Amino acid sequence: MEDAFQLPIAFARRMQDQLGQAAFSKFEDALIQKPITSVRLNPQKLSRVPFRGATPIPWHPKGYFLEKRPEFVFDPLFHAGAYYVQEASSMLVNQFFPKAEPMRILDLCAAPGGKSTLISQVMPPGSLLISNEVIRSRAMVLAENVTRWGDPQVLVTQSDPKAFASLGPVFDLILVDAPCSGEGLFRKDPASRNQWSTEEVQTCAARQKRILSDVLPSLKHGGWLIYSTCTYAEAENEAIIRWLIESFPLRPDPVAGLEEFSATASEIAGEKHAGWRCMPHLFKGEGFFISRLRKVGSTNLDKEEPTFKKHKKKSYKPKITPAAQAFLSSYVKESYWEHCSIRGDYLVYRPHYKEWEGLPEGLKMVKGEMLLGKVRPKGLTPFHDLALSSLLVENTSKLELDLNEALSFLRKQTIKAHVAESGWKLATYEGAALGWIKIAGGKIKNHYPMNWRIRKH
Ligand code: SAM
Repeated sequence: MEDAFQLPIAFARRMQDQLGQAAFSKFEDALIQKPITSVRLNPQKLSRVPFRGATPIPWHPKGYFLEKRPEFVFDPLFHAGAYYVQEASSMLVNQFFPKAEPMRILDLCAAPGGKSTLISQVMPPGSLLISNEVIRSRAMVLAENVTRWGDPQVLVTQSDPKAFASLGPVFDLILVDAPCSGEGLFRKDPASRNQWSTEEVQTCAARQKRILSDVLPSLKHGGWLIYSTCTYAEAENEAIIRWLIESFPLRPDPVAGLEEFSATASEIAGEKHAGWRCMPHLFKGEGFFISRLRKVGSTNLDKEEPTFKKHKKKSYKPKITPAAQAFLSSYVKESYWEHCSIRGDYLVYRPHYKEWEGLPEGLKMVKGEMLLGKVRPKGLTPFHDLALSSLLVENTSKLELDLNEALSFLRKQTIKAHVAESGWKLATYEGAALGWIKIAGGKIKNHYPMNWRIRKH
């Protein structure tokens, strides 16, 4: 049986002081309600809402609250990257995104990838996103989620925040969705209640300052820092923003109007809307804090010259063999060809950003390019990354699967459909790409990646 809901005593006392008794009672009541499941749709892959009874989330045009939590693992559209299961408060990041020219963006603490996939949806065309996660196992999950989402302009790195300082001021926008004491997850996750302590809040605040000091030299002058946590602790939220303003050439860049969604404004350094809190007794989502700052002036920590590899546009000619050209013509949208090249037997796509090649030096790369396929004079083998990405041409030959067939495919089992034509086909479910199959002699060979297969029965 599940433990009875109990808040840590020191946390309850602090929140009582913070909110006052009347609001605290409502806050406490809200925490014993069931958390609400929500999803954000991927418009590149899906044009309809695939959940019955879903209602729109007012602060994100593709966000939906669900009536109940389905078993996502048994929905092929989940595996196709047609939507991302994301807590509704996190979708507020959308409101903090400055409308600007193409940008080079860093999502520093990115795993499992909720905010990176959201950013890729809202960043201006031609932007480049570096999605970073310092913990190896989490970086692998992040890379899988980024691949599933299918935006080729997202790189995945696994670097310590310090590594970014040596690049110089290269980013137009940095998101630090900091590791925190996780108080905002108390309703959803009993473990977060058991692990909480006053000391943990202090440890997290110190870590947040360290992470921010390490990464800030890589923010351009005039660039934006978005800072967020999923905790209610002042020490990890408003106090961090105050410290940032006092210690660095940063000023609040307020986002107004979020009262409309019942978010609560935080006044910091005399700025009324410097930060916003999502409080579960007022806002339809879990606990969250978010603030946007803008860098002005310069710090002597900054290097002026970025060390991104630069290729001169005119002289840069990716190597393409006739077999590779045949591959491109069959599988890749023409607008992406100029950034595809041959590496050994492989055809790769390198994300780009204006005249810069998108491969920063000194970072530990997990996904620095997209492997499109194997290209040999004898034959072409398309890879899974390509199946899920927006690089793939729309007229690829397809085989539409029903639910049982799609689940068999995702379990890497044999599919017993009868198909006359031979060759590569894209397995789809409700039109969304799941992966590749190859047909020879009427038999279907399943090319779904072994390590991605559904293991749950
Ligand atoms: N942004 C993610 C999303 O929307 O899916 C959630 C990020 S989670 C709140 C914080 C992340 O910071 C975790 O993935 C954690 O592994 C990472 N992290 C932990 N310690 C860190 C450190 N010292 N420096 C940078 N990141 C760290």
